[in-house]
Amino acid sequence: MNVTELFASNVFHDEVMKNLLPKEVYKSLRKTIDEGKPLDNSISSAVANAMKDWAVSKGATHYTHWFQPLTNLTAEKHDSFIEPDGDKVILQLTGKNLIVGEPDASSFPSGGTRATAAARGYTAWDPTSPAFVKEGTLYIPTVFVSYTGETLDKKAPLLKAMTALDLQAKRLLKLFGIECRKVSTTVGPEQEYFLVDEEVFNQRKDLVLTGRTLFGAPPSRGQELEDHYFGALKTRIADFMRDLDETLWSYGIFAKTKHNEAAPAQHELAPVFTTMNVAVDSNQLTMELMKKVAKKHGLVCLLHEKPFEGVNGSGKHNNWSLSTDGGLNLLDPGETPENNPLFMLVLACVIAAVDNYQGILRASVASAGNDHRLGADEAPPAIISVYLGDQLGALVDSIVYSRQYVPKKAVPGSIGVPESPIFPIDTTDRNRTSPFAFTGNKFEFRMLGSQASVADPNIVLNTIVAQAFSEAVEALEGAKDFTKACKAYTEKLLKEHYRIIFNYNGYGPDWEPEAERRGLLNNKTTADAVPEFFKREAIDVFVRQGVYTEKEVIARANIALENYTKTINIEALTMIEMAQKDIFPAVNAYVTELCSAIVAKRAVSEKLAVNADMVLAEKLSTVNDAMMAAVDKLEKDLFEVPAGEVPASQVMAHVIVPDMEEVRRCADKLEKLTASSHWPYPTYTDLMYSVR
Ligand code: ADP
Ligand code: MG
Repeated sequence: MNVTELFASNVFHDEVMKNLLPKEVYKSLRKTIDEGKPLDNSISSAVANAMKDWAVSKGATHYTHWFQPLTNLTAEKHDSFIEPDGDKVILQLTGKNLIVGEPDASSFPSGGTRATAAARGYTAWDPTSPAFVKEGTLYIPTVFVSYTGETLDKKAPLLKAMTALDLQAKRLLKLFGIECRKVSTTVGPEQEYFLVDEEVFNQRKDLVLTGRTLFGAPPSRGQELEDHYFGALKTRIADFMRDLDETLWSYGIFAKTKHNEAAPAQHELAPVFTTMNVAVDSNQLTMELMKKVAKKHGLVCLLHEKPFEGVNGSGKHNNWSLSTDGGLNLLDPGETPENNPLFMLVLACVIAAVDNYQGILRASVASAGNDHRLGADEAPPAIISVYLGDQLGALVDSIVYSRQYVPKKAVPGSIGVPESPIFPIDTTDRNRTSPFAFTGNKFEFRMLGSQASVADPNIVLNTIVAQAFSEAVEALEGAKDFTKACKAYTEKLLKEHYRIIFNYNGYGPDWEPEAERRGLLNNKTTADAVPEFFKREAIDVFVRQGVYTEKEVIARANIALENYTKTINIEALTMIEMAQKDIFPAVNAYVTELCSAIVAKRAVSEKLAVNADMVLAEKLSTVNDAMMAAVDKLEKDLFEVPAGEVPASQVMAHVIVPDMEEVRRCADKLEKLTASSHWPYPTYTDLMYSVR
């Protein structure tokens, strides 16, 4: 296989466009892509035609406007290229077909922005993300808006948030005498996932219906040996990964790194970073293809944040930075950050933004699945804080406390063996416990859940940093002595927002009380986190930066809460079904068998021991009874969940989830005591160790 030839072979990429489009059309389209110039509608027919010819040559018969509704998935409706031509057909894609579509979109969540009766929605081409051919269809990335102009998707606000940051960053750079055409946001999302055997998966109703195990006693072997992380790949897994890489490459996705993760059956894929909207599209496609490729290998890819209790869950690390079209990375500190006022100002603005808007940043990653992960041992707590590392941490400390800064020198490393190479040692160690860590020349936001779209947190990040930049520009524009004013402003921001910086162990027991003393938010559940969006200052920042209208912010928050409530409702119903229909009868059958054994043994001889049978039968009946009582309580509480997004989500978080924990506690105890032959489901051991 020739990787360079394979790469992007299914993509209508720059070189293809250049070859197939008339020169003027190509130039005009490039201007739109590179500089954000409005698309010249007169070129759309030519582009559409070239795109269609190319797609047909790749075996396509259909096209689709591919969009990202307010779920975590993408949506597509396929239209064929055929147009009647007498008795025959011709293949056609008009300019209008390329630019706009009108799916009947009444069944997508709109959070009340649109009544079902007024279902009109439009999709519009995003020329900055390349079209591609997949399974016989030309995929055209699009935004999705309502008849009245409200955005109904994740891409439109993402593009707006990119524009907002571009605009404000350019104003900021101008103060430093730097002119550029565009400041792009770059994102590299690292994706974690689990792989389980398809046959085993199919026997678990909870996995099939909810994506996670609602029951399951801990296996005898978890991740305590720490032998899975970076371990040698099993052949079946390696085959899957190779297949996945090749598939992703063919769609122009920069799949770069793959390895086993900490939990058994857990893995990770990291791409090379790219422009934010392309990174979001690629991540959506990556998640979809992971599932499809897994199926080919008799595996199921679990993207849920916490498929198994007791071992690590899966997240996404969102590496985020800003760079000019000239290649200047605004988060690159250089050799001597202390002498880099632009970097220091940008850093201070990011810190201020994260502190000011910690509530919505946390809310942007809130979901029923992620609630199980945040604050457990494997992920940052629900508290937002910023990690700067030794070098920058010391520099910021020196500014805040007006102390002399003594730079730490990078020392060459060696293992002390003459044959081994000398390698440079970083001035900053890694920190894996911070939710928002500076890592060399980018920030890494580590709170994201594995199955969620990465659009939401990036929309928030860009918006709040754009706001911080605009405030900086307003404060510094027209300053008599810019250098001095800039230094003073940077200092002021760092002092005001020093509380958000935490350079130590975020998983440690001391951090929560310390964060509380500092007045930082700690919203542990989605029900408590999402209402941050309803606050005045949150709505204002989106409106000011032109990313959302007030109505759009509220709609999105309501959808997040509604989704949370629905997810937990499905989980609770699944749990009730499994407990009542499978677990209770299975345990009962086993108890009956034990009782029969007791009777049989007694009939034969008084000397046959029945003690173990008696004790076990008694224990099992007691716990089985307790489980059914817990099921009854859960059922009753579910029935009484109030209407309305906020009250319903509160009851889900604080009544239903604890009820479910009680049902599970009983069932897991039963699993440990019940004979394997009677237990109705594959165990954690079966699920995590069946791929060999
Ligand atoms: P680390 O080892 O610190 O996690 P890596 O260099 O392995 O850093 O990068 C991790 C992820 O960060 C990769 O997806 C990479 O492409 C991405 N990344 C690197 N530089 C940037 C940047 N400037 N902007 C956004 N993402 C980046
Ligand atoms: Mg990382």
